[in-house]
Amino acid sequence: MPELPEVETIVRSLRNEIIKERISAVYCSDKKMRVIAAEEFKQRAKDKVIEKIERRAKYILIFLTGNEVLVFHLGMSGRLLLTTKMSQEKHNHCIIELASRQFLTFYDPRRFGFYTILKQDDLAQNKIFSNLGVEPLSNEFTNHYLQQCIKTKKLIKQTIMDSKLIVGVGNIYANEALYMADILPFRPSHTLTVAECEKLIASIVAVLNKAIELGGSTLRDYRSSDGRIGRFQHKFLVYNRKHCPNCSNLIKNTRIGGRSSYYCGKCQN
Ligand SMILES: [Zn+2]
Repeated sequence: MPELPEVETIVRSLRNEIIKERISAVYCSDKKMRVIAAEEFKQRAKDKVIEKIERRAKYILIFLTGNEVLVFHLGMSGRLLLTTKMSQEKHNHCIIELASRQFLTFYDPRRFGFYTILKQDDLAQNKIFSNLGVEPLSNEFTNHYLQQCIKTKKLIKQTIMDSKLIVGVGNIYANEALYMADILPFRPSHTLTVAECEKLIASIVAVLNKAIELGGSTLRDYRSSDGRIGRFQHKFLVYNRKHCPNCSNLIKNTRIGGRSSYYCGKCQN
């Protein structure tokens, strides 16, 4: 499933390629992947110019002239691919043709993703965005903020993965960050010390930045907008590992909230 680093990788590469491009045509499949009618989507996007591209949580936001913004969520297996030929894949749900004869294609075989168009002015109030927590790579993600989040008996791994508190810390990165911070994933959140919170913040930021630098992680489906796979999956310290890289003990695996949770019982407390 594409997580924050994968989505950020796509956003950064698209930003280099399609800013100031004009949308010359829009094609939509008849699959229910939109929250608005295809005709309205096409009519509002066509002939607009791409002004900027941003990421919020795991949403890709393509800001257009005319106060419009395209919103894409990749779900489990979605891709947003930029090509110079129009692709004819069965699972293409939306193709945006640019005046330069490039094609931005939203492809999603498992169909957990979606796309839509919103007014920029309505973005903050829209129900998609109004309940999202802070961005972990922003200045808002401070120790003071994390102190507020951990006033709960919920397990720390669930707290850092709760998108109402902190967005985009998916399962892989939560495992890695907790390992790097020497904190067991099933510690009740309120037992973390201020120093541990400091270390956890630094670890979350470090693991996300490292993953972005390596183009994200590809476990199954993920591809960047140019079709490349990520490389961070070769750098996992604890996720899906057999032995702890620090002490060589066996890595243990349990389920927390239904998600695989890997840890070293010796190095993490
Ligand atoms: Zn260890």
